[in-house]
Amino acid sequence: MALSSFLTLSQNRLRQDGLEWPESAPGLKIPEHRARGAGYDRMTAAFSWIRPEPQGIYIAPTDVWVDPSRAVPRALVTHGHADHARGGHGQTIATPATLAIMKLRYATSDGAVPAEYGETLSLGGGVKATFLPAGHVLGSAQILLDHAGERVIITGDYKRAPDPTCEAFAVTPCDIFITEATFGLPVFTHPPIAGEMAKLLNAREQNPDSCILVGAYALGKAQRVIAELRAAGHHDVIWLHGAMEAMCRLYEEHGVALGDLRLVSDAPSKEALRGAIVIAPPAALNDRWSRRLPDPVTAMASGWMRVRARARQRGVELPLIISDHADWNELTQTIAQVNPHETWITHGREEALLRWCALNQRRARALALVGYEDEDD
Ligand SMILES: [Zn+2]
Ligand SMILES: [Zn+2]
Repeated sequence: MALSSFLTLSQNRLRQDGLEWPESAPGLKIPEHRARGAGYDRMTAAFSWIRPEPQGIYIAPTDVWVDPSRAVPRALVTHGHADHARGGHGQTIATPATLAIMKLRYATSDGAVPAEYGETLSLGGGVKATFLPAGHVLGSAQILLDHAGERVIITGDYKRAPDPTCEAFAVTPCDIFITEATFGLPVFTHPPIAGEMAKLLNAREQNPDSCILVGAYALGKAQRVIAELRAAGHHDVIWLHGAMEAMCRLYEEHGVALGDLRLVSDAPSKEALRGAIVIAPPAALNDRWSRRLPDPVTAMASGWMRVRARARQRGVELPLIISDHADWNELTQTIAQVNPHETWITHGREEALLRWCALNQRRARALALVGYEDEDD
C-alpha cells in the first residue's frame, strides 16, 4: 500500500471517531520516498509450523490452536475475555486463573490443563509452550512457543502500565512476536491511572448528594478500578451491580484484595447510596437498573474515552481513560524491547504499527484474524 492511501485510510478511521491525525505523530515523520517500499508489504519468512488462519493461530505439528474463535479439539488460551476464551474445546490449556474464569463463564471445566507462569509444557510434535505474564487481566498470559529452536510469542492482549490486579508483562526475546494493536494509532496515549482516579474521587467530593456510577467491564477493568481506588485511599463501601459480584469474588480468591464491596440490590435505601461509588457493566449505565440510584453522575472507564464522540454517544459525563491494552507508546516500546526478527499483528488498528515497523527497518505483517472484537478495552 502506498503511503498516501495508508494515510487516507487511517485518517478516515480517525475522522469516524472525531479525531484528527496529529501533526507530530511520533515515528511517522519520515519523508515519503524513504517510507515507500521500506518493507511492510514485503513477504515475511513465515515459519512453516505456525500458521495464522482467520479463526486463530494454528500450530500444525501438535494440532493446537491459540485463542480460536470456534470450538476445537485442543486450544491454548491467553486470557479469559470472550473474544479469546470460548467454551467447548476438547482440551483447554491456560493459566489456573484463566481456567477459573472460563469455568465461571461457561460453567464447564472439561479438559482443563493448567499451566503456571514460567512452566514449560511439551505439547507433542516437538512443540513446547511456556506461559508468561501479559499484564492485561488476572491470569493473562503471553504464550511462548518453541519448535526446533524457533521461538514465537503470542501475546493475546497486553499492557505495560502497572496494574495491582495482575502480574506485569514479561519482556522475553523471540524470533516472531505476535501482538495486538487495539490502540495502534499515535493519538492513543493512555494517561497515568492516578490522575483518572483523582478525577473520580474529586467528582465524588463535588457531588455529595449524588452517586458516581462507573461503567467498567466485568472482567479486569472493574477490579482494577476498585483496587486503584483502594490504593488512592478510598476505603468506603464500593457498591456493585450484580453482574460484577462473581468475578470480584474470583479475583479475591486469587489474592487480589478489593475491600468492602456490597451489592446495590442489598442497599437499605436509595439514600444509603448518596456520596457512594457504584460500579456497573457499561450496558447498565443507561438502562432501567440505574434508576434505583440517587442522581447518578455517569462515568466510564475505557481506553476509548480518549475519543470524545464515544463518550458523548454513551452519555458519559465523566470519561476516565483507563485501558487494559497497550497504547501506541507501549506497543512500539514493547516491539523495540523484545526486538524480534518479525512482528505479526493480530487485531486492532494495524496500519500505523505496520508503518512504524517499516520506518524502523522491522519486518512486520498483519494477520487479519477475525472475531477479536474487544469486550475489554
Ligand atoms: Zn482481553
Ligand atoms: Zn482481545
